[in-house]
Amino acid sequence: TPVIGVLALQGDVREHLAALDAVGARALPVRRPAELAAVDALVIPGGESTTISKLAEAFGLLEPMRERVAAGMPAYGSCAGMIMLADDIEDPRSGQRTIGGLDITVRRNAFGRQNESFEAPVVLEGVSGGPVEGVFIRAPWVERAGPRVEVLAVRDGHPVAVRSGGLLATAFHPELTGDHRVHALFVEMVRAVTGPRAAGDAADPVG
Ligand code: GLN
Repeated sequence: TPVIGVLALQGDVREHLAALDAVGARALPVRRPAELAAVDALVIPGGESTTISKLAEAFGLLEPMRERVAAGMPAYGSCAGMIMLADDIEDPRSGQRTIGGLDITVRRNAFGRQNESFEAPVVLEGVSGGPVEGVFIRAPWVERAGPRVEVLAVRDGHPVAVRSGGLLATAFHPELTGDHRVHALFVEMVRAVTGPRAAGDAADPVG
């Protein structure tokens, strides 16, 4: 059983923990470096990326997360989490620091005022059984994606779900829908990296 941490500084942490649990992972909140060191993979929740970024620095987690992701730890980010996994943010004034790892440039709050929050079906490559319900809340979109980034879904001409190696990001919030197919896809990606044996197995011989 892979142990998957959810960065628990701000945002919809609880919903991600529940979704991961529902698809058979061991899910743990991560607030300190020692907790990060104990997980096989990390989810970065939706919330406010500027706040998450500042708190991550204050809690001494930003550098360790950058190092783990650079060393190949799988990670999934929804909405603000997508921004945290992006190498670049479009707004040059931001100065906002990210974990990075995904060769993308994101535009924050990209869908504009009239359309700040909406729900729409999203056809997601790699997820079978029909479209997922896309909950977009002041969501980013992907302005630029590098050649090795796989685009899984597009809306208004811009990628809203991407994957690259062990990194997955969605501009929307599957954790708010009760449909756990995106989390199942991520757990599959984690298993592909960790193999049958994961950090959880020592403490959880039946897992
Ligand atoms: N607009 C937020 C940000 O820039 C993201 C919103 C969300 O996670 N729902 O961080």
